Amino acid sequence: MKSFCIYCGNSKAEAHQICGSCAATPVTHEDLIYSIIMSYSADEPYLNFLSIEEIEALCEEIGSGGKIEVSPQVFAQAKEAYSAVRSMGSPPLLSKFSRKASPMHMVILVLVLLGLIFGG
Ligand SMILES: [Zn+2]
Repeated sequence: MKSFCIYCGNSKAEAHQICGSCAATPVTHEDLIYSIIMSYSADEPYLNFLSIEEIEALCEEIGSGGKIEVSPQVFAQAKEAYSAVRSMGSPPLLSKFSRKASPMHMVILVLVLLGLIFGG
């Protein structure tokens, strides 16, 4: 799992972690969702919302002072995944996100269903 800081674009180990470069942690609901979007796993491609190229492009955008921009569909999917994890009442919710815990499988299910409903 690779994650990138939504504030400065540097890489960090996990989406919810403090950034080693700018010392910021995602706190708001929206920032956490963006942090989820800015995560990439080569081993678990079903966790990814964007390709690594798209994430790297966003990092460059952040690095040059720009804002993160994703399609409303990507944001909605990440929000749905976040809500699904959250509704299972599993604090700290985002630690589940980066582990192979069973609630993640629910999230995958949600994502697959979303893909079936809104995809293609
Ligand atoms: Zn940072």
